[in-house]
Amino acid sequence: MNRDELIDDLKKRIKDKKVIRAFEEVDRSDFVPEAYRRYAYIDDPLPIAEGQTISQPLTVALMTEALDIRKNHKILEVGTGSGYQAAILSRLCKRVFTTEIRKELFEFASKNLRNYRNVKVMLADGSLGYGKEAPYDRIIVTASAPHIPGPLLKQLKRSGKMVIPVGDDMFLIKGNRKTHLGYFSFVPLRGVHGQPFKAP
Ligand code: SAH
Repeated sequence: MNRDELIDDLKKRIKDKKVIRAFEEVDRSDFVPEAYRRYAYIDDPLPIAEGQTISQPLTVALMTEALDIRKNHKILEVGTGSGYQAAILSRLCKRVFTTEIRKELFEFASKNLRNYRNVKVMLADGSLGYGKEAPYDRIIVTASAPHIPGPLLKQLKRSGKMVIPVGDDMFLIKGNRKTHLGYFSFVPLRGVHGQPFKAP
């Protein structure tokens, strides 16, 4: 599959033209480790370092569309991984803050995102959010949480929206409304509001 074919496939499922344009602007192969580059345009997750994965493009697209992003938004991502999701978000909003708990991936993503001026990558436990820049218009969690972390709810604007997988269930949170978006498989969220994390 090449890049155009991947985008054509996404167009069948994603109606928001701004989201499609973001996928046209960001080259996924820039976020995939060299050994897997030839698979970059297949709609599948791929391994990155430390047993983690870069999400499937369709999953990135569905979560991005569900967030309903405006140009003036400030967004928090929990789980930078490769930086691909953050790069997509950066095309749609003003500022992205993204947290990664693993040092090797923090470094990998920082390098991949070096030309994305409105993205700040932080080495931190994102299950605690990132209080310094709160409140956020949108929050996206790209690792499977055991429950919705309290600090993330606190750091979301009253009118804000959050997309988060809890176990295998993807939810869109807005105020006290919770919409089920479907079933997705993610690596586990670690840290204070996730599973225990021991730095290597
Ligand atoms: N959004 C990523 C996919 C991430 S996979 C991409 O586009 O490539 C999930 C990532 O979440 C992993 O890199 C994992 O190390 C990270 N993670 C897990 N728990 C975390 C936490 N508490 N804070 C920040 N990152 C976390």
